[in-house]
Amino acid sequence: MAEVKVGLEVHGYLNARRKLFCLCKIEKDAEPNTNICPVCTAQPGSKPMLPSKEALDRIIAIGLMLDCRINSRLLFQRKHYSWPDLPAGYQRTISGSYSFPVGVEGSFLGIGITDVHLEEDPARWEPETGFVDYNRSGYPLVEIVTKPDFTSSEQVREWVKRLVTTLSYIKAVDPEMGIKCDVNISIPPAFLRVEVKNVNSIKSIAAAIDHEAARQERIVKQGKAVGHETRAWNEQLQETIFMRRKEQAMDYMYIPEPDLPVIDVSEDYRKSIAKTLPERPHEKKERYVKKLGIDATDADVLSSDILLAELFEKVAEKIEPVLAARWLRQELLRVLHYNKKELFELELEARHIIALLRLVESRKISEETARRLLEKLAEKPFEVEEYVKKEGLAIITGSADLEKICSEVIAANEKAVQDYLKGEEKALNFIVGQVMAKTKGRADARKLRELIQARIKQAA
Ligand SMILES: [Zn+2]
Repeated sequence: MAEVKVGLEVHGYLNARRKLFCLCKIEKDAEPNTNICPVCTAQPGSKPMLPSKEALDRIIAIGLMLDCRINSRLLFQRKHYSWPDLPAGYQRTISGSYSFPVGVEGSFLGIGITDVHLEEDPARWEPETGFVDYNRSGYPLVEIVTKPDFTSSEQVREWVKRLVTTLSYIKAVDPEMGIKCDVNISIPPAFLRVEVKNVNSIKSIAAAIDHEAARQERIVKQGKAVGHETRAWNEQLQETIFMRRKEQAMDYMYIPEPDLPVIDVSEDYRKSIAKTLPERPHEKKERYVKKLGIDATDADVLSSDILLAELFEKVAEKIEPVLAARWLRQELLRVLHYNKKELFELELEARHIIALLRLVESRKISEETARRLLEKLAEKPFEVEEYVKKEGLAIITGSADLEKICSEVIAANEKAVQDYLKGEEKALNFIVGQVMAKTKGRADARKLRELIQARIKQAA
């Protein structure tokens, strides 16, 4: 694809229990118009309460995670427009010409962050029926505005994915309600911005960029100029649709909100939030690779979920990190996937995995046994060492027992032995599998393989 410049406005619902300016609850499945009060339905004479502390905590945390400078004074604005979803006729926001956004001049994974701000959500309006549900009116929203630093849809897709992971580390945004993006796209020579509104998934963001860039290229090739306009992404048609010319853009008549004071964010308050913030996913990944010698793919997966990352870090304090990484990324995730469970649903603790992997590390149990034990641990944790002793699961190493089982299996599988001698590797796997089954998985698979190979060669 030809040259393209992309900037994003990412909107998300803050993870909060109460609305921004009143005490109404946030409940996703509530009956329409049940979590409402005079403030969030803008009854005459009603005044907003001070913005909720949990929303401020979260928005400052987001700003800090994105390396923003946090303004010490926050000034809410009224953004006016006249739609049925906005009972007051204005939306309260810390954006617009006169405001001081919460965070400014940030950067995340090489992309500049212009600002991070906080605003209230309008109600949910159904234009077809005229129905309005005010439950959503007053939900706290975050808006993250980037500089037009992206140069491909693939880069945007990867960045948004990492942004979502990073916000999930601090549980800042409601994961079920997802994020929405407005995407600014421009191409040479004029780089005139076209804004595409309401793109609702990471997949759609990439599709919208590719479609819009191609549309603009066709216009430039025809020797015409791209219009300065706002378009909408149509999910069904998979194309951008004209909404309005920029010169017709709405004048929102921003004015400072007279019913709210300037909110002070003290140095102490900011520091108290900074103290609670975790290392970010990309920093964890880098540390895992550089300091612990973990494979980049393993490090990427382990750092994609903070619970998994924290579990790994605890286990890797006691167990060789590469072994720990392999077991968590491959075996634990396999068990979770098979049981259709999330990590937080398991009672399993780091000490159980440490106990299990100590036995693997010291070759007291076979990997096959360890896999089966991990499956059981995921169902309900138990003391691993005791269980191994009680059930007699310790590895069989070079004992007379193992030799005997090998001889029996080799004798009983004449055809497989012949096939192997003719060069069929699969036949050897079959014989190893048979012995493994007889030992109930208690043999060391690699040693067993060597042992069988030697015996067959002897016999031949
Ligand atoms: Zn309310």
